[in-house]
Amino acid sequence: MQREAHNLWQSSKQSPIDRPPNSLKINPLSDKNIPLLATLASREFFTENLRMALSFSCSFTSFPRDQVRASPKSNKCLDNVRNLVKTVAIPSVTSSPLESLRKGNWVKLICGASFEDVVDIRNLSLVYTLAGVDCIDCAADGAVVSAVNDGIEAAKEIAALRRPWVMVSVNDDEDLHFRKAEFDAEDCPLDCSRPCEVVCPASAIALKEGNSLAEVSLGTSTSGVLKGGVITERCYGCGRCFPVCPYDKIRAVAYKRDTTATAELITRNDVDALEIHTSGRQTSLFKELWDGLGDSISYLRLVAVSLPNTGDSTISSMNTMYSIMQPKLRCFNLWQLDGRPMSGDIGRGATRESIAFAVQVAAVKDKPPGFLQLAGGTNIHTVDGLKKMGLFQTTSITNNSNDERMTATSPSSLHALVGGIAYGGYARKIVGRVLRSLQSQNGVARIEDYPDQLLEALREALALVGTSKCHDPLLTMS
Ligand code: SF4
Ligand code: SF4
Repeated sequence: MQREAHNLWQSSKQSPIDRPPNSLKINPLSDKNIPLLATLASREFFTENLRMALSFSCSFTSFPRDQVRASPKSNKCLDNVRNLVKTVAIPSVTSSPLESLRKGNWVKLICGASFEDVVDIRNLSLVYTLAGVDCIDCAADGAVVSAVNDGIEAAKEIAALRRPWVMVSVNDDEDLHFRKAEFDAEDCPLDCSRPCEVVCPASAIALKEGNSLAEVSLGTSTSGVLKGGVITERCYGCGRCFPVCPYDKIRAVAYKRDTTATAELITRNDVDALEIHTSGRQTSLFKELWDGLGDSISYLRLVAVSLPNTGDSTISSMNTMYSIMQPKLRCFNLWQLDGRPMSGDIGRGATRESIAFAVQVAAVKDKPPGFLQLAGGTNIHTVDGLKKMGLFQTTSITNNSNDERMTATSPSSLHALVGGIAYGGYARKIVGRVLRSLQSQNGVARIEDYPDQLLEALREALALVGTSKCHDPLLTMS
């Protein structure tokens, strides 16, 4: 059934892009407009340069894949991609992910703990690496990790960039991020208006009319049935299809990543960080997972714990989890404050809970060591919200590790109150529009083989990543 849904999806990538492509046509930048790092502290300055830089455009649509690399037009268009990266001059293109955390302008792309479409993941990773993200968070699956790294390497072939860290996400218990939707399409009424298909943000449901196998084998085909269903690798468990089904046909199937497989995965050279999703309510499960990971933890540069706001008990459970981690923690740690899990990440309202959570935790004196990072409901409005709440400030750094990697790479005694922001659904959506269009026209494709679409996707990604990268609190305080 899932294979059927996947095949249906592959053959029906006709979903139209729901927004016209960026049509800015302004004069290209000259060298004098290339912003310097110091002047990036002004968002207005950054925005203006970004706006101007986005004026680069390609004058053609696509190439046959096997001719792209030889085509002068293609090279010229990839030059425009390179020029855009160079012109915007996002600091993290050269500075390390750790430096971004310390400054407070760390940006993480969340591919989705359950999202396993390796084609999309590779293209997303390529685009957001070019846009200067510090970390790419993906499912703890070997093929997915390889897709992320392939996208990163492809981006580095286009422009001289430093590599973002690759993070894998696991869970210690049932969690909204670790589930898949499931239903048997043949059980659905044929006249259903299929709201599940419409509401799915990941195009993870594909249905069409067919005949049931039983009817076909018996030669008694009379009426059709729906075929297809959920494309498992694309479903990331957002849950939006559950309430819209008028016949209550859709089930949520929860799962937990295997600890032994995760321990093996994080010893890979191309995995830098681990994120543990926890409810924070049952620290015994957290301990069980942490102990199960054993010495593999020593291969990591960063361990993140993602937790929702549990009110008054949040800080005490953070302290308990930190005390569990501390004996084996030889790298940096980070608290991902998931203000609004699976929010849909749209509008100013969605980001409020995430910011309120950060305000609450940042204000507490006896919280455990570690960088703070927002997630859940984060979008293009999040940085503005953080600024309004005064969270782009510096504070004394807490050295929580004796590992020489930490002391060697922490030259300053200052770091930002909030280390940065993770973007999930919103980041995937804005670039996903371009990817859907690319796939509907060309099928499975590497986005760099279609430089005009890559340029368009990069513009979208830069507009989001730039909201964080334009701000450097360490510069503004001096
Ligand atoms: S849970 Fe979300 S991603 Fe999965 S099929 Fe339903 S709407 Fe789509
Ligand atoms: S909305 Fe429910 S009944 Fe209708 S096609 Fe989707 S899963 Fe089936």
